[in-house]
Order: sequence, then structure tokens, then C-alpha cells
Amino acid sequence: MYAEGVADMAGRIRDEDIALVRERSSIADVISETVTLKSAGSGNLKGLCPFHDEKSPSFNVSPARNVWYCFGCGAGGDAIKFLMDAEHLSFVESVERLADRAGIQLRYVEGESPAPRARPQQGQRQRLVAAHAAAVDFYRAQLTTAGARPAREFLARRGFDRAAAERYGCGFAPDAWDLLTKHLRQQGFSHDELVTGGLSRPSRSGTLIDRFRRRLMWPIRDLAGDVIGFGARKLFDDDDGPKYLNTPETPIYKKSHVLYGIDQAKREIARQGKVVVVEGYTDVMACHLAGVPTAVATCGTAFGADHIGVLRRLLLDTDAVAGEVIFTFDGDAAGQKAALRAFEDDQRFVGRTFIAVSPDSMDPCDLRLAKGDMAVRDLVARREPLVDFALRQVINRYDLDTVDGRVEAMRRAAPLVAKLKDREKRPEYVRKLAGDLGMEIEPVQRAVLAAASATPGKDAAPARRPAPAEPIVDNPQSMVEREALKLALQEPVLAGPMFDAVEASEYRHPVHAAVRAAVAAVGGAATATGGAVWIESVRDACEDLAARALVGELAVEPLRIDGEPDPRYVSITMARLQWGSVTSRIKDLKSRIQRINPVNNKDEYFAAFGELLSLEQHARALREQAAGGL
Ligand SMILES: [Zn+2]
Repeated sequence: MYAEGVADMAGRIRDEDIALVRERSSIADVISETVTLKSAGSGNLKGLCPFHDEKSPSFNVSPARNVWYCFGCGAGGDAIKFLMDAEHLSFVESVERLADRAGIQLRYVEGESPAPRARPQQGQRQRLVAAHAAAVDFYRAQLTTAGARPAREFLARRGFDRAAAERYGCGFAPDAWDLLTKHLRQQGFSHDELVTGGLSRPSRSGTLIDRFRRRLMWPIRDLAGDVIGFGARKLFDDDDGPKYLNTPETPIYKKSHVLYGIDQAKREIARQGKVVVVEGYTDVMACHLAGVPTAVATCGTAFGADHIGVLRRLLLDTDAVAGEVIFTFDGDAAGQKAALRAFEDDQRFVGRTFIAVSPDSMDPCDLRLAKGDMAVRDLVARREPLVDFALRQVINRYDLDTVDGRVEAMRRAAPLVAKLKDREKRPEYVRKLAGDLGMEIEPVQRAVLAAASATPGKDAAPARRPAPAEPIVDNPQSMVEREALKLALQEPVLAGPMFDAVEASEYRHPVHAAVRAAVAAVGGAATATGGAVWIESVRDACEDLAARALVGELAVEPLRIDGEPDPRYVSITMARLQWGSVTSRIKDLKSRIQRINPVNNKDEYFAAFGELLSLEQHARALREQAAGGL
């Protein structure tokens, strides 16, 4: 936590102001800027944790208590702590950012606050963001000058009027060595700040010069809308630099995370559960203006795992909720290659991935120019599953009129089907592939199975966190015990009474029994209202470390049911759980009865026999319950 930071910094920002900032900051609003939250019941919210990689939401927010906590990785705190962790801000920077949001004028203990852009004790991030904001203003103003005519013409030729250029903050880096650098130095930004932020660089002679010159400029923003870098396009033939130049890696600009347009697209991405990944700045603009508000683009790098992470949190992409990711590609060879590479990436997506290829190999910007806004919307609407696209790409390379061609195409296509994360879809694709190849299903199925066993790593079930202390045996009884505990932890209101009716002794695995006992120790699941507090109380009641760790795991592990759990599901789960112990007791009892001499030990014999009858009756009832009757 930041106890030391508070003591240190409280001397600068007044304590009562910090308290006011904390009180006036809606934790849900602050966190919603970067993490999509949905209701977790009891007024709590949950989403995918930004601090560790996860597929089901264990990141909990309690607006009532103004705190957040992740059951997956143990991170937690208040709104200030969230900004510190998520945006890598210092304590002071976080308080300042929240104060800005809430419209609170901070008072500093040592003298009054100087002008916000030049205050030396501001944190580095805020200084670099301020320098970028000043640079945006500078480049925008330059766009209206005579020298910027090629930049204005570039935008106009691509269908962007003045309003569009303004909406995206487009600007122009003038034909000068150090105009921006001097401008920013005059505003109080230091030599080091301009170099660190990637806005200026030292020349050979050692003087500071502008990084970008004679280029059309796009400000690149983070999720919260702060400008953190620039994309710069070449305009002049005698410019021998690359077509696009981007801000280099800086403390605030990480190209593997950055998505152009995310600040404008994030709300629609979250609302529609859908994101469209395009290739350039003009494509993002064209899509947004054409009525596809969910478009974003990577900046000077291929779409990678970190981008997936950013999007998954917005999409709330979990095993239960599948967000849709749509890649648009040119129909050319490079685009096809990119699509096949995306197929490799796809294995990290839980959501469904689609490809939208323009029939005329036009990017969204060209398409909008040539055929209008509707054509861009149609392009996205006509998306096809990535698997279908990739299979077609492979098959098209072979001559299917020959036996050799068909067999070779099958051999090449089979690994793609074998890689499908969603195994239930494999038979469907085996049939489709057989149809496309004009072959029988049988040999295609064999080829897919062979390919699946050849890549055991990729085919394995999604990795779980390592099991706590004692390995949990992966057998049906163990699975159903886990499921029961998950219901008690995640859905206590629903599962409470039925869960509490089954005692710890019915749980075969000792760690499971320990968690069951902890639930009993805090008064049973029926008394709980759920949420973070409930799970923490169960965890605190656990007597051993393995059980504590397991509570954290089970609190976040998805239930093994499609859709919402209902009383019927709880009933079936609890019946299956008891079935194991009842059947083994029946077996033990039968063996004991065989060993009793009914003549000499008549009473014992009849008692055991009576017990057997009632157990068998119980077993019958459980079997009916497990079959789904309530
Ligand atoms: Zn976490």
C-alpha cells in the first residue's frame, strides 16, 4: 500500500483535500474508464482484472465501500490506489487526476499551487501528458498555416473535412528544426522532459530539435483520453523517412498496448460487445464517421497479446460472455498472412474472431470514399468467422480436381481445425471441410484427430492457476465438490439452503471439506448476501492455507453451466455430490452385512439391513434429483 507515500505527500496536498477527493470520487466511474464492469449482485460490480491475466472476472468493486479488490491476484484499494496501479501514477498524481475529475481545487500546504503546466513537483506522467497536450495545440494551430496545405489536401482527398480533422485533433509538424521544441521550452518544459516524452531529440551538434517535421500528425490517446504520443504521416516526396513515424517507447507510450481511437470507441465497444480492428489512423476515422464507432487500430506494430488484454477487459470477454473481435484486412497477400497470424493469436481469445475482407481489396478509408458510409457498415456486417476464412485461404492453394491436391489440402487444413479452442465446433468444421474438399467425413476426421494429437500443448485445456498445496484429483466427485463450493461462494443467495443441508463429511477431498467447514463456521451460505465481503469472510474462516487459496480460486472459477445458474442446477449439483458418498456407504454396508451371521447377531443384522434399505432409498431419490427433477 502507499502508507509511506501518504505521510510523505500529505505535507504537500492538504489532508482534508485528499479526504474530499476520496469521498467525491465515484470508484465505479474511475475504474470504468479502463475496465468494463457488470453487476455482481448486492450492489457490487465485477470485471476482468487489469493487473493479472484472467478469463473470468475476479476483479470486484464495491461502490458502497468505495473500494476494489481482486480475488485473483490480491490487489486492491481505493480510487487513488487504482490510478496509481493502473496508470502508473504517483500518489500525488493520482490525487491530482481525481481532483480534476471531481472539480476540486487542491490546496497545498507549502504555498499555493502554481500554474498547472509548470509546477515542478508534479509527477513525471502528468508532466509528459501536459507537454503532449501543449504539442497537440501547437500542431493543430500549424495545420491552418500556408505550409500545411499538403496536409489539408491529404485529409480532404481521403474524405475528411475540417470538422473531422478537429474531432481527431489532426495537426501539422512544420518545416522547421525546433519550432515545437522552443515553444514547449518557453512553456516551462525541460530539456529532459521533451526528450523523455519523445517530442524532441538531440541533434548531432547537441542542440534539441523536433522529432517530427513536415508531417501530418495524429494525437494518440490512452483509454482515459490523455494524449500520450503521435502518429506522423509523410507528406513530401523528398522526405526519405518511413511512411509513418510514431512516438518511440516512453514512460507513457507503450506501443504494444496502444490502440488508436480507443478513447472514442471504448464506450461503444463495451456496449456492443464488439470491436473492429483496422489498420491505420485514416481507417479508424473513416469507420467512426461511417457509423462503425467500435473501430481501433494498432500504432506501428502488429496486433498482439497486450492489445488483446486491453480489449478483453473492455469486452468483458469471459468463458460465458463472448465478445466479438472483427479484423478488417485488405484482400491482398499481406492481409491474408496477417489473418493467418491472427489465427495463431486467436487461441488466446475466448471470444469469437471474425474477418471482414473488402471484395475490392480496399481499406475502410478507400471504401468510404469510393462507395460511401453504407459500404463500410456492410463490410463489417459481412464478416465471416476467422476459421472459415483461414480454411479457405489454405484450400485455395490446391487444385481440388486432383486426388493429390485434395489430400494435400486436407493435410494442411486439418491442423487449423484441430487448433479450435472450442472443441464442440470441431465436428461442424470437419463436416464443412469435407464438403469443401469434396471428400468423405471419415478421412478428414482422422486427419484432424492426428493433427490434434501432434500438438498436445495447444490442445490442452486452458491453464489454471496451479492447484493449492495438495493436488485436487480430477475425478467426477472432485469436480462436483468444486462446483458445489463455487455455488456457495458465488451464488450464496441461490444455493445457500441446499448447500448448507449437505454436511462437510459428504465431501471426499479434505481441502474441499475444509472450505465447507469454513462456510459453516461463518453461519452457512444461507445467511450470506454474496459479494466480496462474503468471500473474504469465508476465506478468513479457513483453518488451513490450502483451503484459503482454494476459496480465492473457486470464487472466480466459472461455473460449469451455460447461462445463469438456477435452483435446478444447485439441486442437481448437490445430489451428484452426495451420490458418491451414498454409493460408497452402500457398498461398505453390503460387505458388512455379508460378514454378519444373521442367526447369532440377529439385531445387528436387521439394523444394518434397515440402514441399507434407507440408504438405497436415499440413493434413488438422489438419482432422480441428479437427473433434474426437483
Ligand atoms: Zn487481479
